[in-house]
Amino acid sequence: MSLLKIVTVADDNPVLRRKAPKVGKVDDSIRRLMDDMMETMVAAPGVGLAAPQVDVSIRVITIKVDNQLLHLANPEIIKADGEQIGYEGCLSIPGMVGEVARADKVVCKALNRHGKAVRIKGTGLLARAIQHEIDHLDGILFTDRLTDPSTLRRVDEMGDEEIMNVEGEAVTV
Ligand code: ZN
Repeated sequence: MSLLKIVTVADDNPVLRRKAPKVGKVDDSIRRLMDDMMETMVAAPGVGLAAPQVDVSIRVITIKVDNQLLHLANPEIIKADGEQIGYEGCLSIPGMVGEVARADKVVCKALNRHGKAVRIKGTGLLARAIQHEIDHLDGILFTDRLTDPSTLRRVDEMGDEEIMNVEGEAVTV
């Protein structure tokens, strides 16, 4: 496995804004990409990563929440319920956080690392990460979804009380 370079908005690379095409078949090259993405994400550290963030425009994401490792191809939300509002970050927008409203519960269908069709149910942080990563596959960044533009700020510029909030709720994905 190897660490991949994470594309950031400062790189001005259009891959972050492109709608990524579906994976045809989960073969060894896709599995290698999934493994490299997982290693890169954990090292960053982050809880989610989408293939366009490593300059590969295909529909593959990795997520690690509560020690659950997910390597998913062609993920698609088939059910969404409730709402959660919290601060969110992104490995492609380093050092920044902003408040984003997401569904609180989602059901996602996808192909796993072995190409098998799976359904993933997520609530809270896992649901947030799934929605954030699928957005990347459609060229959408969390800064497009802020509850209010004034909530976008540098992590190191936040006051003590707000940092408590971010530590409790922010997710770097
Ligand atoms: Zn992100």
